[in-house]
Amino acid sequence: MRPQSLTPLFAQVTSLPGIGPRLGKLVERLAGSLVLDLLWHLPFAVIDRRNAPEIAQAKAGEIATLTVTVDEHLVPRSPRQPYRVWCSDETGKLCLTYFNGREDYLKKLLPPGEIRVVSGKIEIYQGEVQMTHPDHVVALDEREQILRVEPVYGLTTGLTQKPVQKAIAAAVGLAPDLPEWQDAAYLKKQKWSGWKAALAQAHAPGEPSDLEPMHPARARLAFDELLASQLAIALVRHHNRTLAGRATKGDGHLQKRALAALPFELTPSQIFANAEIAADMAKAERMVRLLQGDVGSGKTLVAFLAMLTAVEAGAQAAMMAPTELLARQHYATIAPLAEAAGVTLALLTGRDGQRQKKATLQGLADGTIQLVVGTHALVQEDVEFADLALAVVDEQHRFGVHQRMALSSKAAAVDLLVMTATPIPRTLMLAAYGDLDVSKLTEKPAGRQPIDTRTLPLERIAEVVQAAGRMIATGARVYWVCPLIEESEDVDLANAEERFRILNGRFPGKVGLLHGRLKGAEREATMAAFADGRLSILVATTVIEVGVDVPAATVMIIEHAERFGLAQLHQLRGRVGRGSAKSTCLLLYAQPLGETAKARLAIMRETEDGFRIAEEDLKLRGAGELLGTRQSGLPDMRLADLAAHDELLQAARDDARLIVDRDPDLESERGAALRALLYLFRRDDAVRTLRAG
Ligand code: ADP
Ligand code: MG
Repeated sequence: MRPQSLTPLFAQVTSLPGIGPRLGKLVERLAGSLVLDLLWHLPFAVIDRRNAPEIAQAKAGEIATLTVTVDEHLVPRSPRQPYRVWCSDETGKLCLTYFNGREDYLKKLLPPGEIRVVSGKIEIYQGEVQMTHPDHVVALDEREQILRVEPVYGLTTGLTQKPVQKAIAAAVGLAPDLPEWQDAAYLKKQKWSGWKAALAQAHAPGEPSDLEPMHPARARLAFDELLASQLAIALVRHHNRTLAGRATKGDGHLQKRALAALPFELTPSQIFANAEIAADMAKAERMVRLLQGDVGSGKTLVAFLAMLTAVEAGAQAAMMAPTELLARQHYATIAPLAEAAGVTLALLTGRDGQRQKKATLQGLADGTIQLVVGTHALVQEDVEFADLALAVVDEQHRFGVHQRMALSSKAAAVDLLVMTATPIPRTLMLAAYGDLDVSKLTEKPAGRQPIDTRTLPLERIAEVVQAAGRMIATGARVYWVCPLIEESEDVDLANAEERFRILNGRFPGKVGLLHGRLKGAEREATMAAFADGRLSILVATTVIEVGVDVPAATVMIIEHAERFGLAQLHQLRGRVGRGSAKSTCLLLYAQPLGETAKARLAIMRETEDGFRIAEEDLKLRGAGELLGTRQSGLPDMRLADLAAHDELLQAARDDARLIVDRDPDLESERGAALRALLYLFRRDDAVRTLRAG
């Protein structure tokens, strides 16, 4: 149950003064629909209105608050002319200028003969002191209210500062006194005030430096948010762990057979990851583990070995991929090894025919199928497993937490292994998943050579085409990637089609075209032709980013590389360098290059280390952008800035861990306070996992 004291904060924003239905919609778009949401909408700038000169001392360009007598209204004859109100003090005259000013309104606002306090930007125009559309016009007795440093809030079209300031001030006024949820010693060490005082301070900055992320008020609120998020993750995890788990112990006999069929040795980190996963599966608790590794580092194989462990223990395992293409590819990789091990493997996708699908479902339900690879078709309701022990989710950032959970709920105590292709910086990992167990594949399989990466301006594309011709003459296989240039997919496709026509004109019959609009069968035919060498050049939109595996391909050409994100470039480049032959990556860019694009291309030239690239990417862009908040399951942070608040994040993680160890159902006094914190940051999903939730 939500604490009673929070009720006012959970009212609609339209309950605030000055916010009717029309503004309510805009405020909702800006910050959210509840009063609570406005609390977290912090100012991004300040306006200092304490400068109160006499008219003669006012300087052009500065914000000033002037106390003047209203002298005369000059009502324009044509509506195209501005409405002017002349005012004065002992030192000079001031002209207030209004475009489209309404006479009745302005006469009420600025009655001739009376004293008014006006605040706004000073302009000097043809020797006259002017103020166009003053921000404030008030009577003398309200002077003190505007003679201050004013918070400036981010707006959305149709909203202006004043109603937003007023609504937020009202929302802050509704914040109740709440028992302190932070650890007393930590609070003291940080010299932070209580949340209510911090909230008031954060909305009343005295100077620009008060807006910095490490200002005590902001840092405290950011920590509150991080703690809520880490605590929610930790509570859910604790809850899942206490659900009945199962000990899945393999004896290694199937793994041994599969490994014997491999034409290569496992890398040290593959061996280590396999052992880590097996040990985790053998525990009675549920496994939730991330298998992180660079493109081509051999995650699929490690995941497959874990699946064999499940079968050795007499159970089943499933692997879910985000696309049809990837599911088929994983299936193709795994099928010969499954055969060598003597286990039954099926493929389940949305494209299966009725009869085949029925047979697969039957086999999964009665246990005759031991392993299955598929798309999200696997989480549909009609899929039942005889005894699912392990769910592998190949995430590639395309699944949400929801689907992940859906697969692991197919049986009572399913161990979960999530594969991610893009190495996630530690900070983001922590924010998104909390303290997750991670196995990392850190080195590339033996025999791989570094990829020679070069950047070239697009003007030299003719040379690149020639070079491509020379390379394919020696039997090389070339990817040619055309980017997302416009918002519309049609235009992108047109670009790729155009490039295809040009190249196919040069190298007739040697060029294929791959894009998202192709039907599955056509796509596979093109891929197969490229894989077995009937096609030498594969022109593609970014569809090949996701997992296309042709080890014989050694050249990657990316047009308009400046338009791609770093992670994407890295993923694309990872399509080559997968065999033992030397590979090349050409990044073609349009000039002039912006600073960020320049930095990105330089990093690409410098390193192939996906972890390093991910860290650099985090620096170049915001955290939210990096993973695409919604898809990644990364909590939407409103106050915390993962780049600036890295240390706070670690501290919140440690604190959350301690809390869950000591008081997993939040029953202590501090626990009760923490429940309120979870509600404040809308993490009530976690409250529901508590015994006395
Ligand atoms: P990831 O899923 O991490 O991108 P994959 O598992 O698809 O990588 O492996 C990429 C390629 O490397 C596959 O063709 C796979 O057969 C091969 N591979 C995997 N492990 C090794 C190894 N230890 N030595 C050589 N090649 C390997
Ligand atoms: Mg793979």
